Parts: sequence; structure tokens; C-alpha cells
Amino acid sequence: MQSVMGRSPDVDHLIGGECVATGARFDVKDKFTGETVARVALAEREHVDRAVDAAAETMRRGGIEPYRRSEILKDAADCLARRKSEIVEIMIAETGFTRADCQGEFTRTLETLRLSGEEAKRICGEVVPLDGAPGQGGRLGMTVRVPVGVVAAITPFNSPLNTVAHKVAPALAAGNAVVLKPAEQTPLCSVKLAEALMEAGLPAGWLNVVHGAGQVGSYLTDNQKVRYYTFTGSTEVGTIIQRAAGLRRTQMELGNISGTIICEDANIAVAIPRCITTSFRKAGEVCTSLQRIYVQRALYDQFLELFVQGTVALRVGDPRAEDTEVGPMISEEEAVRAESWVAEARQEGAAVLTGGKRVNSVLWPTVLTNVTKRMKVLNQEIFAPVVCVLPYDRFEDAIDAINDTPYGLSAGLFTSDLSKALLAARTVDTGGVHVNHTSSCRQDLMPYGGMKNSGFGREGPRYAIRDMTDEKLVTFTPA
Ligand code: ADP
Repeated sequence: MQSVMGRSPDVDHLIGGECVATGARFDVKDKFTGETVARVALAEREHVDRAVDAAAETMRRGGIEPYRRSEILKDAADCLARRKSEIVEIMIAETGFTRADCQGEFTRTLETLRLSGEEAKRICGEVVPLDGAPGQGGRLGMTVRVPVGVVAAITPFNSPLNTVAHKVAPALAAGNAVVLKPAEQTPLCSVKLAEALMEAGLPAGWLNVVHGAGQVGSYLTDNQKVRYYTFTGSTEVGTIIQRAAGLRRTQMELGNISGTIICEDANIAVAIPRCITTSFRKAGEVCTSLQRIYVQRALYDQFLELFVQGTVALRVGDPRAEDTEVGPMISEEEAVRAESWVAEARQEGAAVLTGGKRVNSVLWPTVLTNVTKRMKVLNQEIFAPVVCVLPYDRFEDAIDAINDTPYGLSAGLFTSDLSKALLAARTVDTGGVHVNHTSSCRQDLMPYGGMKNSGFGREGPRYAIRDMTDEKLVTFTPA
């Protein structure tokens, strides 16, 4: 099998099926130990342009038939599965996520690849009833879905394998060639995905990988041969990419200040463990991580007591230890930033019920009360293991509070009252509303994406393929 990894531990670009080294390199660090685990080639504009040219030329030479795309994607899942232990270790090193978090992401990636493989065979248009218009008898019309063109995928650090698969696999399933720029903090898992796809028989040029930070991403957005951008990351960078994309289409999965409502009729034996897991999983660095929990006042004290009890019991520290539940954040700088937001909130009157402590890049799971909208911990996305718990009186007030942010990715609600569930389903302005689950509730076949400043377009192979194809109309007229 061809390896994208060059001289170990150096990692090169993948352009037109070739490993391409560049003079400049950047280090990828182990996020817990700080050791350098790889030295990765840093792309210049020239390399990005070559990668886009390779993708465009590959598409121009002719496509891969859908049944074969399907086989390749499903086989890639099998190739990846055979290398599970190696890839999980790489993911732990480059992200700092716990072993359980990495195993969970790994398993989901297999599902994403297999779903994309299945959907590759089901891309179809529809018959257009042209003879429904006067004088059109004998005419026939149909739509076909055609690949949109070269897809650029720009991905974040917090899901270095599955989010990459959610961009690359549907793009390939749809018949597009791809140029991927993974996050500079976590490029190694995406290299492993590329290797699995090549081992499964993906011909050269269909997936190209270039490495670097925002500057390299901007070379991609400058290149007019790219027809589609699929992006997950901050609202700030999403806005920059959208501006550069102009009339070209995009899929934007951006930030959120995720919230969940706990009604007094909720089953808290179910709600509390779900809230704890989804507040602190991946050290809170998930777009849908719980940051705000609104609890009906009658249940507030009981919920808080049990929630804090469960949080205090979490095992924190070395992500490689089997029993660790919360590991380090992506960098010490990020942990210091989140810690400072907590300190600022405390100064302004918030109570820190547990957490707030930091050692290097590890921030202990933190629960805050007495928070107000003036505080950053409530009015900005913290992307850290920090959660605010607030009481509410009327259900409508809780819905208003959930909606009172510029974002709209996902929200949760625990209740046994069907009318409250229906009201939330109708009035919560988020791309997903999850009854008896939290904001962080995703299966890979779901349509996943946001409203408002959380973006638009949908991940989930079936939905992403719809986005990454154009609808073409063909008509037949009797001569
Ligand atoms: P996060 O907040 O999750 O770190 P960012 O939005 O900063 O997310 O980055 C997400 C991805 O976007 C990364 O791959 C990053 O390198 C890339 N990126 C950052 N700035 C730009 C830019 N100006 N143009 C294109 N891509 C960018």
C-alpha cells in the first residue's frame, strides 16, 4: 500500500497521487505531553494550485461509475477498521481526546464511509411532467444530478477523522474530486483516511491533501477552479470563506452556544448522565457541547446537586489512561482563555460550583451558576469543559432564552409532556431539536447543520450529496 507519510515522522502533501514534500514544515504536537509527533509539510500557493489542478484534471478525464465509488467507500471503511488501534493512538496524540472519545469517533467514521458508499448508488433525479402545460404533449423531461465540480474541504481540529470523512466521502460519492486542507493542529488522522481510500482503490487525483493553517486555506478560497467549499469551523472564518466564495456554493457548519431545557416533568435519571457526557466529552470542544442548561425552578436544586455530584466524579487528566473521562484541551493557550472567562464571570458574581482549576492544557470540568447575559461564559461560544446552569419559571421563557443567541445549530429538551415537545419543535430556531436528549445528539445519517450564524447546508451523506451535486434538466421533444 502506498503511504502518504513520507520519511517518518514527516508527513507530505498528497497531490495527484504523489507525495509532495516542501521545504518548510510545521510541528504537530502531542496535546498532553507536548512532544512533537510529526513534522508536516507546509503548502505554498503553488502547491495548493497544483492540487486543485490535479483534482480538476482528474474530473475532466472522466468519472468513476457510481457502483465503483460505492465499493471504494465501503472498502475504505474496512481498510480503516483493520488499522483501528494505530489510528486511535494517532488521534489521542494529535487531539488530546480521551481513548473513549477517540474510539467513539473512529467507529462513527466507519459508519460515515459506509453510508456514503450506500448513497453513492442512489443519486437520482426525477421525471418532470412537461405535458402538464398546454401544448406540450409528447414532450418528456427529467432531471439528473451531476457532480458540482472540484470540492475544497476545510476542516477543524475537534473531529479530525469523522468530520473529514463527512466532507470527503459524500463529495467522492457524488462524483467530485476533492482538495482537503485539514486543521493544522490535527492533520494526521486525515492522512490515514487518505491512505485507506487509496488502499481501497481510489485512483490518483480524486483526493488531494494539502497542509497548513489559515493562510493555506485562503489559497484554496482564492482558486477559482474550486466549485464548492465544505467548511466546519468558526463563524468568523466561515464568513471570510463565504465572502471569497462569491457565487460558488458552500456548506457552512459554524459555531453555537448550545443549550438544553430540563422541564420539571423530565426523567432526570436519564437527563443528568446525558447532560454530563455532552457537556464534557472531548473537553467540551464540540460545536454542540452543552454550555447552557435551563432547569425549571421546582427541579433546579435537585438537578444541580446531582449534576455537580456527577461532574466532580469525572476522572480528569491523561487521555491515554483507560478510565480518563476528560482530557486536555487542544492547547494551553485555549485552556488559559477558557479559564480567564471563568475567572471574569466569578468576578462579576457567578458561582463556580466545581472546576475552574487548570494544569497546563487540562481544564477541570466546570459548573457555573448565577450567570448573566453580560458574561462571556453565556454570550460567547466557550468551546471548553464549562457549563452554566440557570433556573427558569415559564417554559416559554426557556425557549426564548435558548433562541436568544445569534446561533442556531442544535438544542435539546427533556420532558414527558408532548405539548411542550411539540412547542419546542415548532419554535426553537436550531437546525436540530432533540427531545429527551441534549443539543449534542448526532447519528451520522442525520441531516446535520444550522440556522442563523451557525451556517447552512447539511452534513449527513444523503444530504451532503444533494448539496454537492447540481440538478440538470434534460428535455425530449418529438422532431
Ligand atoms: P476553530 O475555531 O475550530 O479552530 P477555525 O475556524 O479557526 O476553527 O479553523 C477551521 C479551519 O479553517 C482550519 O482548517 C483552519 O486552518 C482554517 N482557516 C482558518 N482561517 C482561514 C481562512 N482565512 N481561510 C480559509 N481557511 C481558514
